[in-house]
Parts: sequence; structure tokens; C-alpha cells
Amino acid sequence: MAEFKHILVIGGGAVGLCAAHYLRASGCEVTIVERGMIGEGSSLHNAGLIVPSHFVPLAAPGMVMLGLRWMLRPESPFYIKPRLDPDLLTWLWQFARASTTRRTERAVHLLRDMSVASLALYEDLASAGGMEFEFRKNGLLMLFRTGHGREGSLKTAEQASRIGIEANVLDREQLRELEPGVDFKAMGGVYYPGDAHLTPALFVDRLREHLIARGVRFVGSTRVTGFVTRPSGINAVTTTGGTYAADEFVLAGGSWSPLIVRSLRLQIPMQPGKGYSVTVRNPAVRPRIPMLLEEARVAVTPMGDRLRFSGTMELAGLDSSINIRRVRALLESVPSYLGGLEPAELEQGEMWAGLRPCTPDGLPFIGRFRTYDNLIAATGHAMVGISLAPITGKLVTQIVHGLIPSIDLHLLRPDRYR
Ligand SMILES: Cc1cc2nc3c(=O)[nH]c(=O)nc-3n(C[C@H](O)[C@H](O)[C@H](O)COP(=O)(O)OP(=O)(O)OC[C@H]3O[C@@H](n4cnc5c(N)ncnc54)[C@H](O)[C@@H]3O)c2cc1C
Repeated sequence: MAEFKHILVIGGGAVGLCAAHYLRASGCEVTIVERGMIGEGSSLHNAGLIVPSHFVPLAAPGMVMLGLRWMLRPESPFYIKPRLDPDLLTWLWQFARASTTRRTERAVHLLRDMSVASLALYEDLASAGGMEFEFRKNGLLMLFRTGHGREGSLKTAEQASRIGIEANVLDREQLRELEPGVDFKAMGGVYYPGDAHLTPALFVDRLREHLIARGVRFVGSTRVTGFVTRPSGINAVTTTGGTYAADEFVLAGGSWSPLIVRSLRLQIPMQPGKGYSVTVRNPAVRPRIPMLLEEARVAVTPMGDRLRFSGTMELAGLDSSINIRRVRALLESVPSYLGGLEPAELEQGEMWAGLRPCTPDGLPFIGRFRTYDNLIAATGHAMVGISLAPITGKLVTQIVHGLIPSIDLHLLRPDRYR
């Protein structure tokens, strides 16, 4: 009987916690094994945006050329550390192949459906007692400062309208009407009223407390090191703290997922996409609506009495050290969009680096592996892991119980690169 299944979740980031939440709510016994502290990966101090407006995957037409141009500038929003790594070269080849109009079109509808469903689940979670994580449905402003940026933003806005996502184009005066306390320097923007945001560290923490209260077992500071297998399945995981058996296993190890399943010879191509955030307490400017600075690819998110600036995508392997030169470049882009925010002052804020788990086609891996049918992938969410964590948890639960998933999982198959 499904209700009595014991599920072991590998990784305690936003995705692992959400999987644990819906599995537990459906009657399963759940254990989470986490290498470090809960949320230690990329789920803690990211931009916290829940974004149906992000329906275009990272692998999209034009991205390869843009990436090549940016690669030559170490301060650009996207950077690949030059190295002869066969995994990276294969990933780049797969990324280029996925960046076609036809493949992007298919992904757009799927990402829209997933993020709209996930936002509805966030609304339920936020209204549950004891789960305050500064969830706000204030929309998102995409700001542009050049003609080229305007063209790109308007094209995305048109595409959004075509697929049923509300997008309103605003000039600078209209921006000021919407956010009277902000001195906009940007030329204009697009307002996506359907987006939302939260404080990710609060979300992770509240969910952890909620799960403990409901009997989910946490095994912290314990790294999964291997698997005890049987023909076509898994009996247990081996860890730095002993062996743990279960009926089913959920792989939610973020950027470390390929490494975790390496001994099983499973191919889930992924590159860690490093990003930074700088969080400033009591900022001089206090917007209500989060913003995305189009040309600079920087997010500005209000979180209680703080303002967070996040951005950059750096393919440099499993390395979360902070490159101050790149953080400075991120902060220096801000004044050309927003007045009153001086980079030198912002630099005094709290800095953080996280690794986004990036797949070559910009879509996560969700589903059972064919060769190990009690191992379920829930990983590879790249830039939208916070956005999509609840729907991923829900889908994992439907898979465990043998139900028809509420989202078609065909494009998300974990074996699609075999
Ligand atoms: C700067 C920045 C800004 C971002 N902004 C947004 C945003 O606004 N909206 C959005 O939706 N997404 C955003 N993201 C992306 C988002 O943070 C990630 O997609 C998401 O956190 C991935 O969650 P996860 O649970 O899959 O992985 P993680 O949070 O990385 O969790 C994986 C966990 O697995 C653990 N682990 C690893 N190896 C092992 C092992 N062997 N045994 C046991 N445990 C192990 C790790 O310690 C970690 O805790 C941003 C990311 C960055 C870096």
C-alpha cells in the first residue's frame, strides 16, 4: 500500500523539502539525508522570485551567440571559466543543440504550466498557519535602459501575452506611478502582475520546522556516498553515517546530483551555474515590487527590511567561492536603472554564492529512471528551482503513488540524454 511507503529524499534544498512535504501529506514515511545544513545548497539566499514570466528556458535561440560574446568579458553576466573538461564540452554541445526555436517553443508551454501550478501551491502554503515566509504577490518589473533591451523585453512581453501571461509595457512616468518611492533611471519596463516573491531562507526554515512537527526525519551533516542495488532497483543508500534503506529514493541533490548517481552510471548532464547575491539592510530605496534589470541580468528583490541584488551565471564547476570582481560588476550596473543606490555602499551588504543546477535544455529532470525504477529524479531546475519547487514536490508524490501526473512529464524524463 502506497500509504505505508518509506521514501528517502537525498538533499535538503527547496526541492527536497517540497518533495518531503507533499509525500508526508500523502501518508508516506519520509527521511531526508542532507550533506550539510538544510538549505545549504543554492536554496538559501537566492533572489526568491516565483516567476510565471520566466517561461523561456536558458537554452533559447540567440543564447549561444550571446554566450560566446559575453565569454570574452570576465565582468559580463554570463561567463565560462576556460578549461578542458569533457563534461563541460558535452554540455555546451547539448546546450547548443537545444537552443532551437522548435525545442524552445515546446519548453515554453511546459514551463508556463509548471510555474502557474507552483504559484497556486505557494499561495496554499503561505496561507497555512505557522508558515510565514514573506510571500508577496506584487508582480515583477522588467526594466530596460537601451533600445536593444527594450526590443528584447517587448518581444518577451508579446510572447507572454500570446501564452496567456499578463504583461503591461510601461514608460518611465508609468513606472513612477506604480512605484512612487523609486527614482527610475531606466527607459521603461514591462510589468508582470502575476509574479510573486518570498524570502528563501525563511521558506526553507519554516518548511523544515513544519516537516519536523509532522514526523519527517532529518539526517543532517551526512553525505550520500553510494547505493546498495538489486536488479533494476535500489535497496539502500550508503552514507558517511551508515546505510539507510527505503522503498523509494528521491534524487534532489541540486548541482551535486550527477556526482551522487555517478556510481550508478546514470547520465544526467548538468553544470553548476554560479550566481551571487548581495543583501543590504535598511536600503535607501524600498521598492514594493521586485525588479529585473534586463541588459545587466540582475534581480532586485525586496525582502522585509532588506533589498537583495542577485545575478551572474558562471560555469566554473562545483566551486562556490566569491569572485569580488564579478560581484562589483553586478552592483555597478544598478545606478543606470535605479537612483539612490551607490555600488560602494551596496558592497557593504552580505555576499553569498550559490550553484544553480543547469541542464543543457533548461528543463529539470523529473521522473523515474528506467534502470532503477524506485529512484525518482527531482533536480536540474537551474534559475527557477524556487519557482518550481512545490509543483516538483507534488509531481514526485503523484509518481510515488502511481497517479497520472498533473503535468505531462515527457520532456522532463531523466533518461533523455542516454
Ligand atoms: C544568485 C541566484 C539567484 C537565484 N534566484 C532564483 C529565483 O529568483 N527564483 C528561482 O526560482 N530560483 C532562483 N535561483 C535558483 C534556485 O536557487 C535553485 O534552482 C534551487 O535552489 C535549487 O534547489 P535544489 O533543492 O534543487 O538544490 P539545492 O538547494 O542546491 O539543494 C541540494 C542539496 O543537496 C545536498 N547534497 C549535495 N550532495 C549531497 C550528498 N552526497 N548527500 C546528501 N546531500 C547532498 C546539498 O548540500 C544541498 O543542500 C537562484 C540561484 C542563484 C544562485
